[in-house]
Amino acid sequence: MGAVSAVGVLALQGDYAAHERALAERGVASREVRTASDLERLAGLVLPGGESTTMLRLMDGSDLGARLAAAVAGGLPVLATCAGVILLAREVRRPPQRSLGLLDAVVERNAYGRQLDSAVVRLEVCDREALAADTLEGVFIRAPRVTEVGAGVAVLARRGSDPVLLRQGSLLAATFHPELTPGSPVVDLFVRLLRAA
Ligand code: GLN
Repeated sequence: MGAVSAVGVLALQGDYAAHERALAERGVASREVRTASDLERLAGLVLPGGESTTMLRLMDGSDLGARLAAAVAGGLPVLATCAGVILLAREVRRPPQRSLGLLDAVVERNAYGRQLDSAVVRLEVCDREALAADTLEGVFIRAPRVTEVGAGVAVLARRGSDPVLLRQGSLLAATFHPELTPGSPVVDLFVRLLRAA
């Protein structure tokens, strides 16, 4: 497996620094993405958690959103977490919000209630081979719930009956925050996708 050129981390808002650390720990260099030109010549892209409404607003008025969508649609390996999943979803409900429509899934925002919406949960691994792990911890912070997934989307892990880790081609989407779990198999899988690309 060869070295990987820089991975872009969308750095408009949210916990992008934690993703940069998680990649650095695995020997992967990252570059903060704030403008469309920052998207050039990337090996992959991370869409971090944070506040999706704010991220959408910060993308307005420039071609960043359109160029980012084109890069993702072009098959760039992507790790989207929490708000990043909301940005990519086909449809966003409760409250409804526009989205880039690149992940064939429907999500409800802030779906786990007000008091219990942040928790560390033991997840059910549905695809041990893909994840190279038998167990998985999920750090949920005002997380969205995936309510529908398309036929081309694999569910790699669940929280109870809810899909929480999805794979659609080279796109990985976690409604939780793997970058906050040291040594997370989810970040490891993303790095394997980068190296295979
Ligand atoms: N509740 C946030 C949103 O709707 C997501 C929370 C997160 O990314 N941790 O965008």
